[in-house]
Amino acid sequence: MDIKSIDKEYIIGTYKRFPIEIVRGKGSLVYDENGKEYIDMGSGIGVTSFGIADDEWKKAICCQLDKVQHMSNLFYTEPCAMLAKLLCEKTGMKKVFFSNSGAEANECAIKAARKYSEETNGKDAYLIVTLENSFHGRTVTTLAATGQEHYHELFNPLTDGFAHIKAGDIDALRKMCNEKKIAAVMIECIQGEGGVIPLEKSFVKELRQFTEENNILLIVDEVQTGNGRSGELYSYMNYGVEPDIVTTAKGLAGGLPIGAVLFNEKTQNVFGYGDHGSTFGGNPVSCAAALSVLNRIDSDLLNGVKLKSEYIFNKLSECPEVESVDGMGLMIGIKTKKPVSEVLEKCIENGVLCLTAKDRLRLLPALNISDDVLKKAVDIIIESC
Ligand SMILES: *Cc1c(COP(=O)(O)O)cnc(C)c1O
Repeated sequence: MDIKSIDKEYIIGTYKRFPIEIVRGKGSLVYDENGKEYIDMGSGIGVTSFGIADDEWKKAICCQLDKVQHMSNLFYTEPCAMLAKLLCEKTGMKKVFFSNSGAEANECAIKAARKYSEETNGKDAYLIVTLENSFHGRTVTTLAATGQEHYHELFNPLTDGFAHIKAGDIDALRKMCNEKKIAAVMIECIQGEGGVIPLEKSFVKELRQFTEENNILLIVDEVQTGNGRSGELYSYMNYGVEPDIVTTAKGLAGGLPIGAVLFNEKTQNVFGYGDHGSTFGGNPVSCAAALSVLNRIDSDLLNGVKLKSEYIFNKLSECPEVESVDGMGLMIGIKTKKPVSEVLEKCIENGVLCLTAKDRLRLLPALNISDDVLKKAVDIIIESC
């Protein structure tokens, strides 16, 4: 039996895979079982920040593997401490909790918001407000946070204590606040799974002001938008606001599992001994990988992200088969005239791996994709439209 048949027989059917087995890659190029080359414009859903098998990234991991691959959180390890320090230095946040995934980072943020709010606003102040069309993860609680009904249907009852408002509708939040005690508002500045849709700057600013005035925490989910993806280190930095809690994951360790929750001055002391934990959280190999990724996201790299972004926006906006281009940095959603599934299939046939989000073609290339490879990919995408 070949790999595809074995996978089909033994892996439970949650993923609709393309009929391609990826066997290796380098940078933004990957190769299938027949040696066919593809340009990777999806980065494993925004994970491989510096592409596949990047040399500097590999070196950081191998170096740590020779020292210690895992220790319980009952002991100190250097990569964990140094990564937390670097995250705080680069953001101005004060403390970090490490998990293994985006959903777990959001779970931690939700627990923190509930505890903080109960202590400052009383026992009934647990409501967490998120946006319609949002995505915050697949656990029973982060599904409740996710503002898309179709993810909920099969798994009710979900965790209690969540409500959703329309993006842009600050009045809905005001009204809700008059009726119920709200612990936190959680947003993605650019809705990723929802179709790569950036929030309005004015709305995010109003949200920050309103939450501050009403002692409501602002949580920004930077799982997909974070770590250079938007052209700034974190997407909220494009909006001129400072959240109370930031969650991130996907691209942080460049391809190893990690999640991180960042707490500001106000929320930094919410957890004490035993309040939260994770066996693998802060794993030294994942943290060493993340340190190497984060150290490379400097102003030069971010400028490169912005220039590459401009190139994609300009080229695709000119294409008559494209209705609109949305997003920020190297997180781009393209509304095509043809059905997106057809365009995606053509792209893959022509050697470019893309993603979709709702009815959009979604691009999340490596942050350091070279200009000539990017140009080739964009030409093929336009042709496929
Ligand atoms: C992917 C994603 C998550 C979930 O992350 P996992 O690592 O798959 O648990 C949560 N929030 C956002 C915005 C995401 O894009």
